[in-house]
Formats: sequence, structure tokens, C-alpha cells
Amino acid sequence: MTIKRYQSFIGGQYLANQSNKYFNVVNPATNKIIYQVEVADTLIKQKALESARSGFEQWSLMSGIERGRLLLRAVELLRERNDELAQIEVLDTGKPWSEASVVDVASGADAIEFFAGIAPSIEGNQQSLGGDFYYTRREPLGVCAGIGAWNYPLQIACWKAGPAIAAGNSMIFKPSEETPLGALKLAEIFIDAGLPPGVFNVVQGDGEVGAWLSQAPEIAKVSFTGEVGTGRKVMASAAKSLKEVTMELGGKSPLIVFDDADLDNAVSAAMLGNFYTQGEICTNGTRVFVHDDIYDDFVARLLRRIETNIVVGDPMLPETNFGALISKDHQMKVLSCIENGVSEGAKLLCGGKAMSPRTAPDGYFVEPTVFANCGDSMSVVRDEIFGPVMCLLKFSNEEEVVKRANSTDYGLAAGVFTQDITRAHRVIHQMQAGICWINSYGLSPVEMPVGGYKQSGLGRENGIETIKYYTQIKSVYVGMEPLDSPF
Ligand code: NDP
Repeated sequence: MTIKRYQSFIGGQYLANQSNKYFNVVNPATNKIIYQVEVADTLIKQKALESARSGFEQWSLMSGIERGRLLLRAVELLRERNDELAQIEVLDTGKPWSEASVVDVASGADAIEFFAGIAPSIEGNQQSLGGDFYYTRREPLGVCAGIGAWNYPLQIACWKAGPAIAAGNSMIFKPSEETPLGALKLAEIFIDAGLPPGVFNVVQGDGEVGAWLSQAPEIAKVSFTGEVGTGRKVMASAAKSLKEVTMELGGKSPLIVFDDADLDNAVSAAMLGNFYTQGEICTNGTRVFVHDDIYDDFVARLLRRIETNIVVGDPMLPETNFGALISKDHQMKVLSCIENGVSEGAKLLCGGKAMSPRTAPDGYFVEPTVFANCGDSMSVVRDEIFGPVMCLLKFSNEEEVVKRANSTDYGLAAGVFTQDITRAHRVIHQMQAGICWINSYGLSPVEMPVGGYKQSGLGRENGIETIKYYTQIKSVYVGMEPLDSPF
């Protein structure tokens, strides 16, 4: 059987490389190669820059309403093609169809729709200075780069392309080499919707291609989603040409459950915040702080729900709600983090091993895992694992838990469960985190800006706020009187 081979998407079409280098993409639930992708070589990179530049020149001259109208057509196409695109995401990532078919494409389409609506109202202001006056223009930055992680490939591409393009920029996007197809489909959809060629380009490859994008002096901004360590490298390279950066990085977020919480709701949050997308979500509440007085009850309900409600298996089966991890390497990394937890003295309440479900025996599964007796300094509590590993920590008072929750270099997200309205806000206001939930967890509607404090990131995605990160202000002073000059 011949394996389909994809290429980079430049100037509105697929473009072959000259190097003949390619990589294989594996379905993590079957361990089988599903397609191949050509690596962007020197020719592709040069064409990508030329194409994005000419796309920018055409696109940035169009009015906001024209840009918005074309983007809305793309939104319609995304929604019409929901099932085909969701299936691509399932096969590339190993996540369950039950999630991808209702979340991944829909949340990507929402972002483009939201920013399409904002495109016509991007404006400057003007102010009188007596006789003279000045006005401002909010102008696009130029060619922007997007670099994506593998957990929500299409959604990440849409979250970056939506605001960038709505504001009049063009984009060169590099998906993770583990999940490269969704971004190509988005590029096709933009062309089908009538966007000019070159507005959205996709270059394929690994970190080398990402590193090239980060340093390319022709690129005005890089928006990166990935690990903190990679983010540091991207930012250092971007500094060489003083590029703008947006960094959406990792986390080790606290979820705090007080003794007056609605316990079933709090258990739902802990499960969503650790096992949705088999734990591969940046905002996950992996440090679950539970008040002493309700700890035993919380644990009993949690373990019962894990036992009865988690269905592991072939991600394409409608009943599966817990899929395979992205790769063999990642499965090994998660298992080794679990081993470290055991050797540091954390107590395994459930899970901890690789799995071979009957419907997907060759996939890279890891059991939903819960550790109790965790100490704040253990590696399982400090380091991002990015897998289905929950750490339970007991606490006895508010001041103590706030301090412990903030005792991390990360600052992506935080959640609190309590019925006490003043305590809820008081605690959340003290959290050093950019995305916070009260009596909820994990929801991220496009209207709400998201991004990290501390080492979890810089800048924001989603929300009106994001337009600021894809535009620059030009101030224009207008002299109405002869200049008063001493010369
Ligand atoms: P990585 O940092 O490994 O990779 C992210 C992207 O960067 C990939 O496209 C990767 O390419 C590319 N890359 C690798 N090296 C370089 C380099 N030197 N210069 C430029 N680009 C490079 O992250 P993962 O893909 O493993 O994603 C998981 C991480 O992403 C977790 O830490 C998670 O928390 C974070 N994340 C954050 C989110 C947020 O919004 N805050 C959302 C989702 C994930 P390739 O993969 O092809 O090697």
C-alpha cells in the first residue's frame, strides 16, 4: 500500500521540497504510520517568506470588513467539515473522537469567527492638541510566525491564525511534526474561502524549522505554544531581530477544594483537569489540594468515578473517553515520572502502568493515575508531566494553601471550589496565574483571554485583548500651524 505524502503549503498550494527529506506520522493509538510529510528545506523556507510577504501586502490593504467576511466563510467551511477534521485530529493525536468531534474543530472555528467579527472595528483614536492634533493607526505587524504543540493541533493553528489574520497580518505556521495535517487542512480552507494566497502558509518539519522561523529577520512576531524550555530558546532567537513574542507555555496548576465545596462538582473538575485529552492539556490542575476534613470523602468519590466512568480504548469508538498518549517517547516519559513519584514516597491510589486496551492493543496508553501522600517538593508535584497523573495534597487552612499553591515557577492556571463567595474571590485574587476558575475548571471560551504568569508565558490568546498582540500603534502628529522653530 502506498503511503500518502504531504508537503508544505505555500502561496495557496502544496509545494514540493528539493531535499527529498520527509518524516513519518504515526497514529499513537495503533503504532502504525498513517502518512508522510516532506520537510521544509531552504527552497520552501525562502518561498514561504516571499509568499507571506506578498500575502501581507495584498491582505493588509483590504478593509477589515472584507477580511472579516472571508474569514467567516472559512468558519462555515470548518464547521461543515467538522467530522473529517475531527477524525484527522483523532488519528494524529490519539485523543478520543468523543472530544475532538465536539471541541477541537468547534473551538478553532469559534476563534476565527470571534476575530472575524472584530476585524472591522480595529481602530485608532485622535486627540486635539489645541490647533494641532494627533491620531493613531492600529496597524498590523507584518509576517507573523506561529509554532504549535501537538495536543490541540488544529485549534492552536486557528487560535493563532484567527487574530493574526483578522488584524491584517500574514502567517507562516509550523505545526508539531507529530501532528502536521490539521494546519494543512486549515490552509486549504482559507484558500477555498477566498483568502489571497500567501496569507496563511504552513511549513513542515521539526524544531530546526521552528528555530529558523524564530530567528528569521523578515518575520515580525512569533507566537509559540509549547514547553517552557523550548519557549526560552524561541525567545532568545527572536531577540536577535527584536521580534514580538507570544508564549503559551506549560504549567503545574493548583486546584483547591475547600471543605464547603460541592464535592461531586469538585471531583468532576479534578477528573476533567487531569484526564481530559488523557492529561495532555497545559492548564491541567495536576496539584489537587483537598481540605483535611473532606479528604477521605473526596478520594472515595474520585476513585469510584475513575473506576466506573473512564473508558479507555480505540479513540475512534464513540464510547471511548480516554485515548492514547502522543508517542512512545512521551509514554515512556510519563511512566518514568510515575516511577519517580513512587520512589520519592508518593502512594499510588490507582493506575501507574502502561495499558493495552482490547480495542487498541498497540497504542501508547497510560492508566489514569492518582498519587496520594504527596509532598510539595516531590518531582511529581513540581514538574509538568503532561499525562494522566493527578497528585493529591492535603491542606488545613486558607493562608497555607495559597502559599503552597503559588510555590511554583509556573503560573498558567488555578481553580478553587468553595461555596463561600468572598473566600472564592479572595483566594483567586492571590493566585499567581493567568487563567483562573471558580467552581469550574478547564473551560476556555474564545471571549476569555488566556495566557500565563511567571514562566508559563507572555502575552495572551483569545479575547479582544489579543488584537493588541498582533498590531502596533502608529501615532501621527498633524501640524495645523507653522512650526515654531528657533532655527
Ligand atoms: P515543544 O516545546 O516540544 O514543541 C512545541 C513546538 O515547538 C513544536 O512545533 C516543536 O516542533 C517546536 N520546536 C521544537 N524545538 C524548537 C526550537 N528550538 N525552536 C522553535 N521551535 C521548536 O512542546 P510539545 O509539542 O511537546 O507540547 C507540549 C507542551 O506545550 C507542554 O509543555 C504544554 O504545557 C505546552 N502547551 C501550552 C499551551 C498553552 O496555551 N499555554 C497549550 C498547549 C500546550 P516538533 O514538535 O516538530 O519538534
